[in-house]
Amino acid sequence: MARRQFFVGGNWKSNGTQASVRELCEQVLNSTSIDFSRVQVVVAPAFIFLQFARSLLRPNIAVSAQNCSLTGSGPFTGEVAVEHIVDLGLNWTILGHSERRNLYGETDDIVSKKVNRALAHGLSVIACFGENLQERKSGITLDVVARQLDSLKKGIIDWNKVVLAYEPVWAIGTGINATPEQAQEVHAMIRNWLSTNVSAEVAERTRVIYGGSVTDQNAAQLISKNDVDGFLVGGASLKPAFRVILEVTN
Ligand code: PGA
Repeated sequence: MARRQFFVGGNWKSNGTQASVRELCEQVLNSTSIDFSRVQVVVAPAFIFLQFARSLLRPNIAVSAQNCSLTGSGPFTGEVAVEHIVDLGLNWTILGHSERRNLYGETDDIVSKKVNRALAHGLSVIACFGENLQERKSGITLDVVARQLDSLKKGIIDWNKVVLAYEPVWAIGTGINATPEQAQEVHAMIRNWLSTNVSAEVAERTRVIYGGSVTDQNAAQLISKNDVDGFLVGGASLKPAFRVILEVTN
């Protein structure tokens, strides 16, 4: 079977200005020699810049939200609903990022319900999960990941529209990436889980990407692993070096 198409997401988090978004789109993303037959590219600016980024980027680079509300549109001051994302003509959202889980109290159950809402409205989802440092040190990484996957599964009505992002919390924004071997171990377990709990076909087809201190220095080694299908990149996606990460799959 042909290799899964690589997938690289840029998670810009709550960063940027109109000037920096323009610079990233025009200088970094639009000027690359990305081979789109090999890699799917999705960038996730803050809500406020979604439309602006969309207007600047080439059509083959998708624009994603970073979250959506648990509710539909209505009297929910300050919330952005899936309906709004769809109305902008966008096709993606990140959900379950560890910053949402840890800073904003999003439980496995909330994440699963959001995933369900997003999929029900036709969005594709980058679904994030991963263990924290204490869990890794206690040797329960695979159990934690399985628990998070069990919960995500309850919300997933269309596996074709899901990219799984394994992001160990201890690696996010710390400069300490999982080694290629550590990433491969968990990714292989995730594929096994998919095969047992969903189907062999979904296990073969679903992209499992790695996130956590991915840089232009470590991307090539990480992507060389069989079950690493790409990356969700935070800090480095705000820098010119993002281009190198996008080209590593060429
Ligand atoms: P990082 O963030 O690349 O800055 O570690 C990754 C993420 O939070 O998705």
